[in-house]
Amino acid sequence: MLRTILIHPDPRLKARADEVGAPDDEIRALADDMLETMYDAPGIGLAAPQIGVMKRILVMDCVKDETAPRQPMVLIDPVITGRSEETNVYEEGCLSIPDQYAEVTRPREVDVTWTDLDGNPQSQHFDGLWATCVQHEIDHLDGKLFIDYLGPMKRQMITRRMQKLKRELARA
Ligand SMILES: [Zn+2]
Repeated sequence: MLRTILIHPDPRLKARADEVGAPDDEIRALADDMLETMYDAPGIGLAAPQIGVMKRILVMDCVKDETAPRQPMVLIDPVITGRSEETNVYEEGCLSIPDQYAEVTRPREVDVTWTDLDGNPQSQHFDGLWATCVQHEIDHLDGKLFIDYLGPMKRQMITRRMQKLKRELARA
């Protein structure tokens, strides 16, 4: 089932999401909905708070080649356990901040642990776009957006654009 993606500014996008613990059928159904919503958008990552569900779960698939097989990932209660000193600059966007992009500097590589849909612990080393994406999505679980890395002027400009967009969407 497709879910509605919240648009910034929204208090749910600024709040910390709660730990999930052992996943049940409700969480597995939520993950299915999140993947469907992410692919439909289309986007490469989606965190549960973006659809108004305040749980620590994210989905992502950073395979950019549309002819390559999909590589959906579901991370429950993800934690970054290691960060490279070397950084990487990427022009980020966000499904909750449509059509706005800005360069964000983050560690180039990260180690992440999480719980999978069967309740098993997982860990993986991410680099490249996957590393940027997983950090962006984990930020969502802590109520942080990529525009929070920008200067106040640029952040306010984007926020005003989104307020205008939301007014237009409300009238439509
Ligand atoms: Zn985002």
